[in-house]
Amino acid sequence: MIDINAFWNDAKSVLSTQIQTISYEVWIDKLEPVCFVNGALILSTLSAASKKTIEQRYLDLTKEVVSNLNPSIQNVEIIMDVQREQYLKKQDSFIEDEGFVVKEQPVLSTSNTSAFLEKYTFDHFVQGKGNEFALAAAKAVAENPGGKYNPLFIYSSVGLGKTHLLHAIGNYIKKNSPRTKVLYVNSESFINELIDVIRRSSENKELNSKFREKYRSVDVLMIDDIQFLAGKEGTQEAFFHTFNDLYQNNKQIILTSDRSPKDLQKLEERLRTRFSWGLTVDISFPDMETRIAILKSKAAQEKFNLSNDVASFIAENSTSNIRDMEGFLNKIIFFSSLTGHPVTTREIAKEALSDFIEEKKESFDASSIVATTCKYFNITSAEIIGKKKTKNIVEPRMIAIYLITEMLDLPLVTIGQIFGGRDHTTIIHARNKISEDVKNDTRIKIIVSDIKNMILNR
Ligand code: ADP
Ligand code: MG
Repeated sequence: MIDINAFWNDAKSVLSTQIQTISYEVWIDKLEPVCFVNGALILSTLSAASKKTIEQRYLDLTKEVVSNLNPSIQNVEIIMDVQREQYLKKQDSFIEDEGFVVKEQPVLSTSNTSAFLEKYTFDHFVQGKGNEFALAAAKAVAENPGGKYNPLFIYSSVGLGKTHLLHAIGNYIKKNSPRTKVLYVNSESFINELIDVIRRSSENKELNSKFREKYRSVDVLMIDDIQFLAGKEGTQEAFFHTFNDLYQNNKQIILTSDRSPKDLQKLEERLRTRFSWGLTVDISFPDMETRIAILKSKAAQEKFNLSNDVASFIAENSTSNIRDMEGFLNKIIFFSSLTGHPVTTREIAKEALSDFIEEKKESFDASSIVATTCKYFNITSAEIIGKKKTKNIVEPRMIAIYLITEMLDLPLVTIGQIFGGRDHTTIIHARNKISEDVKNDTRIKIIVSDIKNMILNR
């Protein structure tokens, strides 16, 4: 029989990876599992307000997670704690009597299509420098799966939108050509399935062919975070055959990873080569302007009125990944719903995030960026601001300008003034030049990241 507590704990551990920590702790972690009624999992809460919030924000996700864990549970209901007894009287006997334990469920699901998160669409993906190629490629593939960009390989460090783009492709195809079979798996579940199939294939001969059938019957196969395949020879072998079959039949393959194919060291050469047959695109950390646009878009989805001041504050304090930036926004939204005070100024935002943003991170400004850059190159601030045009000064100057545009939200004219009254077009030129170099020139990339670390860790 299903141990409802163990089952809910499993569900919670999945949910905790999908919901911001603070929201998870406030809304989900406090729910109590009650029983199953008509195949629905009943959860109780103490307050009507939290019942409402959970229903609005997390019920769909919770249903999805629960039914993925156990397909016989298709529904979730949130009740008030006082209704407990009433529900316990109605509880299902069949789940109790059926006698199966969730953990013993086979890992291999035979479904060859996936459900995609509604919020991860192209409309909700903000285009900006750093992601424009990846976005264009994702749209092209969604329009014409199995066309010229096959496989599509997207890579970036964590929290920059790879999974979002995969879901966006899935949502787009489901909407525009509902008969196309799109399967999304992360490489961990691919590996787990395969291990499970191998382990049980002696007792169940059909399992192998079921696995092959599942993966080879899809039109679009997406494998997220393929880097986990590195070092797993058996899985690579199986994947190699799947890849070839799909590829030869003009089926679309989309892969994501935290690094480029050539940097996937522990991956067989033949796979690395295949990954580069199609189109490889990377996503880099978006600039200030794009970060602010992303925040505005997320706030609008949450129907939260986000002031420019607060948006700038959050964007300035998010310097490496969008997921964390979104986390800050959620904390602000949460803070304002808890206290009933709108968070409209950077001072209140600072207070709301005081536990999460380290003091040192707030203390950089244009002059400290300039000073750190000078220190790094061993030049003086008079030189960096001055008129000298020698390479050993021009390069640091452009890098400092680039870092200011990226790390702070200052008008270009103001930045021009900081650099001895330069025209804003000069600032744009410097910014664009270095942002190109960061992509194409490893030397500049390393310098920029070193200086950035110095600024953040002062
Ligand atoms: P990754 O898979 O690269 O680790 P995710 O796709 O999970 O990253 O993205 C992390 C979060 O950042 C998601 O909530 C996603 O919606 C958001 N995000 C990243 N880039 C953008 C963008 N350009 N526009 C809107 N949201 C974005
Ligand atoms: Mg991801």
